[in-house]
Amino acid sequence: WNEALYKALPVLDSLESSGYEAVFVGGCVRDTIMGRQLKDVDIASSATPHQVMEIFPHTIATGLKHGTVTVMQDGEAYEITTYRTESSYEQFRRPAQVEFVTSLEADLERRDFTINAIAMRRDGTLVDPYGGLLDMERRILRCVGDSDARFQEDALRMVRAVRFAAEFRMDIAADTWHALRRHGKLLSHVAMERVGAESDKMLGGSNPLGALLWMAASGLLAHTKQKLSDKLTAAAEVKLSDNDAGERCVSVMAPSHCKLGAISSLEHLDDRWSALCMACSLTADETAELIASMCYSNGRRSQISAVVRVYRWIQTEAAASVIEDGQLRLQWTRVMLDEGRQASQACLHIMDRLPALFLPASGGTETRHADGGGKFAPLQRWLDELPISSLRELAVDGAEMLQALGRPGGPWLGRLLNELVFAVASHQVSNDRDRLLAYAAASMEVSGSVN
Ligand code: ATP
Ligand code: MG
Repeated sequence: WNEALYKALPVLDSLESSGYEAVFVGGCVRDTIMGRQLKDVDIASSATPHQVMEIFPHTIATGLKHGTVTVMQDGEAYEITTYRTESSYEQFRRPAQVEFVTSLEADLERRDFTINAIAMRRDGTLVDPYGGLLDMERRILRCVGDSDARFQEDALRMVRAVRFAAEFRMDIAADTWHALRRHGKLLSHVAMERVGAESDKMLGGSNPLGALLWMAASGLLAHTKQKLSDKLTAAAEVKLSDNDAGERCVSVMAPSHCKLGAISSLEHLDDRWSALCMACSLTADETAELIASMCYSNGRRSQISAVVRVYRWIQTEAAASVIEDGQLRLQWTRVMLDEGRQASQACLHIMDRLPALFLPASGGTETRHADGGGKFAPLQRWLDELPISSLRELAVDGAEMLQALGRPGGPWLGRLLNELVFAVASHQVSNDRDRLLAYAAASMEVSGSVN
């Protein structure tokens, strides 16, 4: 018994004492059996959404049309979904209509994979009509029922297949795999938000490289992320073989020279996205396009692509120059100001953590940098020493500047303030009000322009 399931037992009890059936189902049962941490506890019940809402005092009508109500109890949220079948699917997407049913078996039949179609009753007994337990033991991912039909009903299931196979380090059953290869192009009918959410889970999971290799080998990557596909497809090797039980199944491997697996050592999801785009030689614009295509927020898009832009600068300019050079330091200061302190920090962090991926292959003379931190350490030091990195931190503001210089405002003011930020950041003047005003007056004199 898992602690989270134990805590949820009163929810099952309430439903049962009102005369309905209720079971744990889906990911929480699967993860409990595999001894993994639970993300959320999903419950299936013969009670209809309205009946569920009558029983519990605190509910949220999350998806009434699909039979889902969220119950709040003891500070936890539980999704309770009415037993249902999915009748008509619309254009390879989620069902347009669902039909509530009274049989648990019928509900399990509409679920995607055998390992996700196991229910657990209140007393711990399992309801497993599709052999999910055995597949879990043999580490095989398999569709419930006919794979072709299941992927045609909802094409997102193909991406989920890949995600689960990677995360649980499973093989994919041969017929599920062949269906996956056949129907990849149906993904174009799926809302990109859903693909994006699955992609985050893949990259944020414990085996991002495995997920990428599966995505590449199956052809799914070509349908969603063409630019990455170009780089990764060559790296994926699939093997069709018989397992111990004599079942045909497929596994995926990376060649030994592929170092991408190291991205799993990065803690933050967006650092992983940045590292992936860096390693696959995407430009900042290509990165922004990729991130936008998955409907992630503008904030994430600009941050991830800024990291890539910093990286590409370091790769060309910094790698080519004598790193302690004063001129390079000035250029680096500009990059840090343009792309932001956070992006610069993230980029150096990634390069430092994944030396094998990002440092130039070290020839004889450079071996002292092989520990990773060495070569670009001055960039990190300069970043740490950056006195300020934004207009907000400047010791004077626009109004004070106008008054001190006695000129009418204009575009020159913004340019001047930005130059002051750069001057402070590059240690040419200290961030002190009077010094800045004097510095500004002198530089206006030199340039003499009021345009
Ligand atoms: P995780 O929470 O780790 O992502 P999960 O299996 O719990 O995995 P959810 O998206 O939370 O995934 O879905 C809960 C359950 O609902 C699944 O285990 C599966 O039984 C069913 N399910 C989810 N999405 C689909 C789908 N597209 N087609 C069929 N069944 C699905
Ligand atoms: Mg879940």
